[in-house]
Amino acid sequence: MFPSCINRNSTQKIDAQQTSPAANAVNDNNVETDFSASLAEVLSSSQLPARIGQRIGSGIAENPAFLLDLFTVLQEDPYLWVLVDKERALGEDYEPGDLVDIKGGSYRVSRQDLRLRRCAAESLEEMAAAAARDGIILTASSSYRSYAYQVDLYARNVRELGREAADRESARPGHSQHQLGLIVDFGSISDAFAQTAEGVWIAANASRFGWSLSYPDGYEEITGYRWESWHYRYVGVELAQFIDNYFDGIQQYALRFIYEWVKRS
Ligand SMILES: [Zn+2]
Repeated sequence: MFPSCINRNSTQKIDAQQTSPAANAVNDNNVETDFSASLAEVLSSSQLPARIGQRIGSGIAENPAFLLDLFTVLQEDPYLWVLVDKERALGEDYEPGDLVDIKGGSYRVSRQDLRLRRCAAESLEEMAAAAARDGIILTASSSYRSYAYQVDLYARNVRELGREAADRESARPGHSQHQLGLIVDFGSISDAFAQTAEGVWIAANASRFGWSLSYPDGYEEITGYRWESWHYRYVGVELAQFIDNYFDGIQQYALRFIYEWVKRS
């Protein structure tokens, strides 16, 4: 029912994407000990709030559902969960191979040159159709941004705002989630968006279609960005549920956990 991103060839392009030793240990008698050790280390290096660590638990015996859900997520296209933030960038040459033009449908577009990866475009249409049934018309205002575009945008922001403000408002080249082709900025791309019918609808419904708010209110120290009520990342339905169920709906927490888990091999 829901579109998924199948792009396993992309696996090699992400340095952090390696099979974890714990994953190889599934048939091992020591599996429980291995998992518990992995979890403890990853929880510690991810610097998550204590309440999240308690929810995740300390091993298979305590919380088998979490590990099953984690491995389900890791089966997905790694670009759904790769961490792209102030510290971690995509390569200069990374451009998704399945970008499609989005021209509207059940939603509006605010400009004609928008592109998304196919799975995100299909999910957007599905979500927008559901919104339309509730009397809400979504507007996609910004989406894929190439590396070259980010170079121009960041330089312009530094010129106009100064470097410090530019870093709050925009990403340095390669550090923008928009380069994934999985992001939509909705509506006015301003704080006013949160109060609109569209903003309220998306906040309440996005995750069941696989979309996650990247920069929530009050988490600038965690995400590096001020609140952006309009900026949603398509992460797929499984990961969106994983974020909601275990990480308080905070995408950065979940992606940081996954980053540390995968890196730990
Ligand atoms: Zn954005």
